[in-house]
Amino acid sequence: MAASDYEIHDARFAGMIFENAGIDVLWSGGRWCEGPTYFPAGRYLVWSDIPNDRVLRWDEASGHVATFEQPCRNQNGHTRDRQGRLVACEHRSRSVTRIEHDGTRTVVADGFGGRRLNSPNDVIVRSDDSIWFTDPSYGIDSDYEGDAAPMEQDGRHVYRVDPSGALTRVVSDMVQPNGLAFSPDETLLYVTDTGRTHVPDCAPRIRQYRVAADGRSVADGTDFVFCDAGLFDGLRVDAAGNVWSSAGDGVHCFAPDGTLLGKIRTGEPVANLCFGGPKRNRLFLCATSTLLSVYVNARGVS
Ligand code: MG
Repeated sequence: MAASDYEIHDARFAGMIFENAGIDVLWSGGRWCEGPTYFPAGRYLVWSDIPNDRVLRWDEASGHVATFEQPCRNQNGHTRDRQGRLVACEHRSRSVTRIEHDGTRTVVADGFGGRRLNSPNDVIVRSDDSIWFTDPSYGIDSDYEGDAAPMEQDGRHVYRVDPSGALTRVVSDMVQPNGLAFSPDETLLYVTDTGRTHVPDCAPRIRQYRVAADGRSVADGTDFVFCDAGLFDGLRVDAAGNVWSSAGDGVHCFAPDGTLLGKIRTGEPVANLCFGGPKRNRLFLCATSTLLSVYVNARGVS
C-alpha cells in the first residue's frame, strides 16, 4: 500500500499512522463482511459475512481462516464481553446472543414491550457488564441479510440490557442507529446513523450522547460529525478518545472534539473495524469482500 493511501487532514494524524505500514489483505471472498472482534486470549478474530450467513475466524498465529459457524442466523455485529465471551447480533433470529464458556448459546434479548426486535446490528459491553445494542431494520427489510418481515417495534432504537436481564430503550431519536462505542471513560456514547438508506435527506452522521452517572441512560444527544464519503457504520475509540469510523472510502479518524484528523483509504467501502493484536494497535477492517489489517500508532480501549 502506498503512503498516499493515508490522507492526513491534521498534523496529529501523521503521528498516529506508519506511512510505511501497508494494509494486509488477510482474506477475501466475502459478500458483505461485518462485525470484527478480536480475542486476545486465543489470538483470533471472528467476523461475519452476512449475506452468506456465516461467521469466519482468522487465526493470528497461523494466518488460517476457517468457518466458525454456518448457518449463523445471519449474524452481524459482535463484541467480546468482560469475561471473554462472544456476544453476537443476529438478524434472522432478531436477537442478541452470547456463547457461554461451555459453548452453549444464551439469548440475551429478543423482544421489547412484548414485540420482537427488528434486527440487532451492533453491540458493545460497558464496564458494568451491561450490554448495549442498536436495532435498525436492515435484517428484516429483505431476504438478503435475514428474513423479510414486518417491523413490530415503533421505530429503530438503541437498547441496554442490564446485568439483571432487564431491557430498556436508551436512544429513540435516530432513523437507523447502527454502530456504537463508548468514550474511554464511558461518559459518552457514540452511535452512527445510516438512515440515508431509507430517508434521502438524513445526513450520515455520528451522534454523541452523555451517559448518566449511574450508567443506565443517556441524554443531551448532539451531532458529533457528518460523513463526506458514503456512510459511517461501525466505529471504535482509541485510548486517547479518538474516534475511528468506517466509511465509504475507508476509515475516518476524528479527535474527541470532532476534528477530522485523517483517513485510511481502502479499495472497498469499510463496514466495521476493531482494534486487536496483543497490543491492541492493529486495526482490522471488514471492507465489503475482504478482511484487512493495518498497524497504527494508537491503542484501542478494549
Ligand atoms: Mg453495522
